[in-house]
Amino acid sequence: MGNLASIKCPKCAAPVTFDAETKFVKCSYCSSQVFIDRSGAGFYYAAPFMVDETNAVGMFRRWAAGSTKAKDLDRLAQIAGVKKKYFPVYMFKRDVNGKEQVVLEPAGSTTLPGLHSLKVPATDLKIFDGSFDIGGAELIKPDIEMTSYNDQLPGKPKEQALVFFPIWKLDYVFNQKRYEVVIDGSAGEVFSAEFPTRSSGAYMAVAGLGFVAFIAEGLLAAVSLPLALVLMGVTVVGVFVTALYVARRM
Ligand SMILES: [Zn+2]
Repeated sequence: MGNLASIKCPKCAAPVTFDAETKFVKCSYCSSQVFIDRSGAGFYYAAPFMVDETNAVGMFRRWAAGSTKAKDLDRLAQIAGVKKKYFPVYMFKRDVNGKEQVVLEPAGSTTLPGLHSLKVPATDLKIFDGSFDIGGAELIKPDIEMTSYNDQLPGKPKEQALVFFPIWKLDYVFNQKRYEVVIDGSAGEVFSAEFPTRSSGAYMAVAGLGFVAFIAEGLLAAVSLPLALVLMGVTVVGVFVTALYVARRM
């Protein structure tokens, strides 16, 4: 054990004793989760899930049907897992020239897409205490210090809190490759870092064939320049028309 310290619970004012190295502690009187920061004690909040699993999968399918995604991704993507999670974010309320500005930053280190650009949840935040039902979601523990954001925040501090943000993590397989998306469990937005794009393979094949044809025509130019120029013209038109076909059909 390190040094013991004590704060007042921000909800019921009971004294809460904690180890100085601890950042998160539960009030033994009202069972509120309290987080401890250099600037004082604060609440945890949580945003309830507004999107259930069925809706999350539906949102994924609609997203997968978008024009930039691989053809039939919405039908062919095999869902490998859907996980319900609460991701911790710091909510900073700042006074910027007399106007309130809210900034969200991740409190947990993550490689998941979208979690660096979350927006304030559309629903009311609930105080995260013993009575809050997490509905079987996995709670991801905060592992980034709140103070690490001090230098990049605008204006002056007004209020800060830790918010558990509802997310669905959906894994899917397409062409034997695994991908992941994050669905905002509050507003239903879909985030993705990498996804199968429309016919990039077909474009590469067209470009490759065009390249090979140009090399052959380049060699031919040493023998007959006029013939090589005509063939090069044909190749350019051919590549263009094929690319157009790929864009429309594949
Ligand atoms: Zn309390």
